[in-house]
Amino acid sequence: MILRRRRGAATIDAPAAPAAATAPARPGTPERWGEVSFEDRMATVDFRVSERPHIVVDSDVCRSCTTRDCVTACPANLFAPTADGGILFNYEQCFECGTCYQICNREGAITWTYPDGGHGVIFRHG
Ligand code: SF4
Ligand code: SF4
Repeated sequence: MILRRRRGAATIDAPAAPAAATAPARPGTPERWGEVSFEDRMATVDFRVSERPHIVVDSDVCRSCTTRDCVTACPANLFAPTADGGILFNYEQCFECGTCYQICNREGAITWTYPDGGHGVIFRHG
């Protein structure tokens, strides 16, 4: 098993961005968190990568796709169009949200399963 940190993440101990100036919370109300960048939030995400891809994309099926919705819908930005009309996909930093499977309009383009036990995304690490 390979443990990977989210692309672009600095280090796990990177300090959060300073909190925006806000009025003190009223007694009895929860405190609001300061502004935290996307990359700082993603620095708290790890991926236990399985050797078995839990999502498989059939690039041949994708060649007849005119919308390429997966490219813009995937929050992890894991789909990339290729010059020959196919799709390049990497499962290793997948959030397991299922959006690509729901949005894809071509039967058989995406085969989606959860990762094997003990693998996959880990949120709120650290
Ligand atoms: S995965 Fe689905 S939405 Fe994405 S390019 Fe292939 S057929 Fe189109
Ligand atoms: S399950 Fe979510 S994060 Fe994973 S490839 Fe599909 S859209 Fe991207």
